[in-house]
Amino acid sequence: MFIRTLKEAKEIAGNLGQPDKMPQWAYGLPANEGSYVEGICKERGWPVPPKYGCGVGSMLSKHSGTPCFNCYADERGNYSYPSVHVNRTKHAVAVYHPMWKYAMHKLIGHYVDPSDPHFRWLDSGDLVNEQMLLDIIWLAEQLPRIKFWLPTQERKIVWTVLHNRGHIPLPSNLCIRISSTKLNNHYVPIGDYFLTVRGKLCSSSVSTVGDHDCPSEQYNNTCGPCRLCWDTSHLHTIYKEH
Ligand code: SF4
Repeated sequence: MFIRTLKEAKEIAGNLGQPDKMPQWAYGLPANEGSYVEGICKERGWPVPPKYGCGVGSMLSKHSGTPCFNCYADERGNYSYPSVHVNRTKHAVAVYHPMWKYAMHKLIGHYVDPSDPHFRWLDSGDLVNEQMLLDIIWLAEQLPRIKFWLPTQERKIVWTVLHNRGHIPLPSNLCIRISSTKLNNHYVPIGDYFLTVRGKLCSSSVSTVGDHDCPSEQYNNTCGPCRLCWDTSHLHTIYKEH
């Protein structure tokens, strides 16, 4: 089932991204309601994905006081480029492809530098369904040398997948961070998970009042040498509002 060539992998999964702020590689989906997805799919003859955009995030984005109200990935800056819209749309279609996880295995395994083995899931967008999270867990298990960070507002998807896994812990190289739904609220309930699972689940929130612990300001708004978000022993990260 594994994909043999990079060309084949890219045809299925599209290209990985390299966000300016982060080390190494990432994969992004359309943010908010993904208003451009249907048009691009029709133009390119791609199937319109059954679900795309941020499920919980698009509801939060209608309310001030939430981190999604002023989302950096909501068609602003680099995220407004037509080429980025096409790339995100390709990813939105790809996650439904039965070979997606194999294509991602090929791409991540090839591109991530072994000297700094970090990969960011979803620098824009969010999980679309349980299968996507199962595939992300499978990829972490298959690529134990790489650390994965997945921030998400999709508690229900995480809750369902983790409960179905029962006492099987998450791979130690996958840091899932449940995002707070409110600005300046740093207490994030992470659910009634089994303790073996709960121990690996992390959270994050956004501050507008200066009590953030993300040090990116020191590094010209990049991660610099910091890799805290991938560290499952760092249970909660507070970011400065963009
Ligand atoms: S806490 Fe560290 S790893 Fe996370 S976003 Fe900030 S600088 Fe990057």
